[in-house]
Amino acid sequence: MLELTTPVQFVKRIGERIGAALATRGIHTVEDLLYHIPFRYEDRLNPQPIASLTPGAMASILGEVRGSILLRTRSGPIFEMTLGQALSTVKCIWFHGSYLKDRFKPGQLVAVYGKLEPSRSAMAAAAAGIPTSGRFKMIQPQFEIIPDGSNPADSLEIGRIVPVYESLGGTTPWGAKLTSKWTRHVMWSVLEELDKAVAGAPHLEEMWETLPSALVARLNFPTRLAALRAVHFPPAGTPIPDLMSARTPAHRRLIFEELFYLELGLSLKRRRLRERRGTAFATTPAVRQAIKQVLPFHPTEAQKRVLAEIVADMRRPQPMRRLLQGDVGSGKTIVAIEAALIAIENGFQVALMAPTEILATQHYLSARKLLGNAISPSTGRPYRVALLTGSLDPVSKRQTQGRILRGEVQFVIGTHALQEEKADFASLGLVIVDEQHRFGVQQRFNLISKPDSARGRGKQAGIVSEPDVLSMTATPIPRTLALTLYGDLDVSVIDQMPPGRTPIITRRTTADRAADVWGFICKQVAQGRQAYLVYPIIEGPNADQPELDFAHDPEEQQASESASRPQNQAPTARQHTSLGRTGSPASLLAGAGRPRLATMKNPRAEGPTHKPASSTRGPSNPSPAKSPKCAASSALFEKPKLRSATEMYEDLRHGALAGLRLGLLHGRLSADDKEVAMARFQRGEIDVLVSTTVIEVGVDVANATVMVIDHAERFGLAQLHQLRGRVGRGATKSYCILIAGDRVTEQADARLNAMVQTQDGFVLAELDLQQRGPGEFFGTRQTGLPAMQIANPLRDRDLLELAKSEADRFASAPDPTLTPAQIDAVWSRLKNQWQRRYGLLEA
Ligand code: ADP
Ligand code: MG
Repeated sequence: MLELTTPVQFVKRIGERIGAALATRGIHTVEDLLYHIPFRYEDRLNPQPIASLTPGAMASILGEVRGSILLRTRSGPIFEMTLGQALSTVKCIWFHGSYLKDRFKPGQLVAVYGKLEPSRSAMAAAAAGIPTSGRFKMIQPQFEIIPDGSNPADSLEIGRIVPVYESLGGTTPWGAKLTSKWTRHVMWSVLEELDKAVAGAPHLEEMWETLPSALVARLNFPTRLAALRAVHFPPAGTPIPDLMSARTPAHRRLIFEELFYLELGLSLKRRRLRERRGTAFATTPAVRQAIKQVLPFHPTEAQKRVLAEIVADMRRPQPMRRLLQGDVGSGKTIVAIEAALIAIENGFQVALMAPTEILATQHYLSARKLLGNAISPSTGRPYRVALLTGSLDPVSKRQTQGRILRGEVQFVIGTHALQEEKADFASLGLVIVDEQHRFGVQQRFNLISKPDSARGRGKQAGIVSEPDVLSMTATPIPRTLALTLYGDLDVSVIDQMPPGRTPIITRRTTADRAADVWGFICKQVAQGRQAYLVYPIIEGPNADQPELDFAHDPEEQQASESASRPQNQAPTARQHTSLGRTGSPASLLAGAGRPRLATMKNPRAEGPTHKPASSTRGPSNPSPAKSPKCAASSALFEKPKLRSATEMYEDLRHGALAGLRLGLLHGRLSADDKEVAMARFQRGEIDVLVSTTVIEVGVDVANATVMVIDHAERFGLAQLHQLRGRVGRGATKSYCILIAGDRVTEQADARLNAMVQTQDGFVLAELDLQQRGPGEFFGTRQTGLPAMQIANPLRDRDLLELAKSEADRFASAPDPTLTPAQIDAVWSRLKNQWQRRYGLLEA
C-alpha cells in the first residue's frame, strides 16, 4: 500500500535505478514526487483550431501527421513534419533532426507545443494574394505522439487537460528518457493508489493533511490530497489561464502551504532572536565625532536614513539582524564603516566579511585610508585594522589571529577565512557581511553564532552576548517582498545614488568590430581614464570556466554550436530560409537596432547598422591574412572557442593595445599578485585591467570609465549588472560595451537588450527572475534565501502576505478550536521541513 512517505523506488515503473536518479533531484519519497508539479498544461479536451491562432505566441496544437521529410543541407539535416487539422496545416521543423526520421507516420495524432511563426511561403503567398493553408511553422517544437487508438475517455494524453512536466532527468532501464509522458503515467498511478488507500482507511486523508483543519476550512482550501490530485490532473473545465498562472484553488493551497511554513519558521526565528542578548551600543558625542572626522563626503539622504535605522538597532540590547539593500554603487560601504565606528568606539571589535579576496583587500585598503590618519576620540589612539584571508602565510595568519584574540585589532576585514580559520575574537560586537548573497545561508550563520572568547570586554558576568549583524546586498528585491521573505531580518534600503553620477552608456557589439572597441579604449586612456576588460575564462580550452556563473540558458549550447556554422558560405536556398530564423539577430532584434560602436563617440547618434557577413574569427586573431573561406571551413568543425583573459592580455598588449599599460587579474593568481594588480589599477599605474569575473562584486575604482565584457551572452543578468556597476562610480561619463556573438539565444538576446535599455537594478532583477525561474533566483546563490518548490514570491505576493499573517497568528495565538495534537503536528512538520529543505537548524 502506497503512503506519502514510501520511498519512490517502490512506486510502479520507478524501481531502484530511476529512484537513484530521482534522489539526485531531491525526490526521495512519494510526497516529494507529487510536489514535482506540471509546469504547464495543454487543453486537449478543446484543442484550438489552427485557423484561430496568431503568430508570435506559444501554442499547443493537436493534429494529425500529413507527411514528413528529412532534408540534407550543407549545415546539416533538417527534419520537417507537416501537421494538419482539416484544411489547415502547420510545418514543424527540427534542425539536426535525423533522429526523427522514422518517428512519425501519416495519420498519427500528435500534440506539438512551440512558438508559432508565420511561414515564408505563406507570407509570399499572402503577398501575391494567393490563399494558402500552411500559414505557420514551428521551429523545434516539443511534441508528443498520442498512442494509437487512444480512447479520449480513459487516456492521459487526450480528451482532457493534460499536464506537462519538466524532465526529471535520468532514463529508464532500457535507456529511454523520463519524458513528460512517463511522469504523467507515474503520477496518475501514484494518485490512484493513494485514492485506493484512502478509500480503505479514510483517516489517512486527514493524516496527510499538513495545515490545521480549521485554517483549511477558514481559507476555503481543498484538502492536501485533493489539491495534489487537481494540480496534476485538473478536472475538465478548469480554466487554462488559471492553471498556467497557478491560480487554481489547488495551486493556491499548495503554494500557501509552502509559504506558511516558510513564514512560520522565519517568525519563530525572529521571536527567538528577541529573546537573545546583544549589546546596547551607546552613541556618545565621541562616537559622532569619530564618524564625522572620517566621512569623506556628505552622505545622501538615503544613507542618512539607513544609518539612523542601523543606529537604532545597535542601541537596543538585542542583537541586530539587518539587511542593507542598495543597488550597485549606491554607497553601502560607507554606511558599514559608520556602523563599524560605533562598535569600535564602544570598545568592541568589528569583523567585515567579503566574498572574495580582492574585495576584502580593497575594503582593507580603503578602511586603512579612511581610518589611517584618524585618532579614535575614545582611546586617543589610532585605529587598528587587520586583514585576514585564507591565503595569508601561516605565520602571519597566526600572528593576526593572536592579535584578534588579544583584542589588539579593532577592525578585522577578511573573507570567509574569518570563520574557517577559527578567528576567535576578544569582544566581537558587530559582524558586517558584504555582498551577502554571495555567501551561503549556512556561512552567514556560522560567524553569528560564534560566541565571544572568555576575555572580552563585551562579556559581563558570564553571559555571552551575540554580536550585531549587518548584511549588505545589491540584489534588488522589492521592499515589501523582502520584508516578508527575510522574515527574520529587518530591511533597510538605499534607494538613491550618490550625487553627480551620470548614466552609464551601454552598447552592444560583435567581436568582428572589436577594433572599434580598442580604438575607443585608447581614446579614453588618452583622456586619463581606465578600463576593465572582462572575459569568461582564465585561459585555455572551452572547459576551463571556473569563475563564470553561467547564465542558465538551456539553448545556449545549441546557439553556440550553430554559431560555429560558417556564415559566409553561400547557403542552399532552403538552408537560407530556415536558418534565417533560428537565432538570427535580424529577427530577434527587430526594432531594437544595434548601434555600432562608432556611435559611442556620439552616443546620441544611433544609426541603423548593416554589418557584412563575417567569419567567427574574433579579435584574438588579428592577422587579416586568412581568406574568409579558410577561416570558415575550419570553424565548421571546431567548437567555438572562447576568448580568455590570459590569451587576450598577451594578444592585446602586443597588438591592438600596445603602448597602454595592461594588467592581468584572475582567480588563479596568488593573493599577492592579485593585490598588486588591483592596487596598481587603483593607483592608476595600469590603464587597462584584463580580468575575469573576480572583479564582479564590490570593486571600486572611480577613475575607471570603460567596462568591456566579452562573450557577454554567456553571463547572467545579475552578473552583467554587477560588472557594469564597476564603472560609473565618479562624475565622469562611463561606458559599458557588451561584445556578444552574432547568433545568441533569445534569452541571451533579451538579457543584452535589457542591459542596453536600463540601468535599473529592479527592472533587471525582474527579467532575471523570469529567466531563471523562482527556484533558482530565490535560491541561496542569488539571495541567500531558501529555494522554493512551488511558490514564486513575486507572482504569489498575495499568498505570501496571507501566509505571513497566518503564520504570525499561529505562532502567537493559535486558533482556539485547534487541538494540542494539531498544533504539535504543525511544529513538528516545521522542524522537519526546515531541517530537510532549508538546512537551517534552529540554534
Ligand atoms: P556599493 O553600494 O555598490 O557597495 P560603494 O559603497 O562602493 O557602493 O560606493 C560607490 C562609490 O560611491 C564609492 O566610490 C563611494 O566612495 C562613492 N560614494 C558613496 N557615497 C557617496 C556620497 N554620499 N557622495 C559621494 N560619493 C559617494
Ligand atoms: Mg560594495
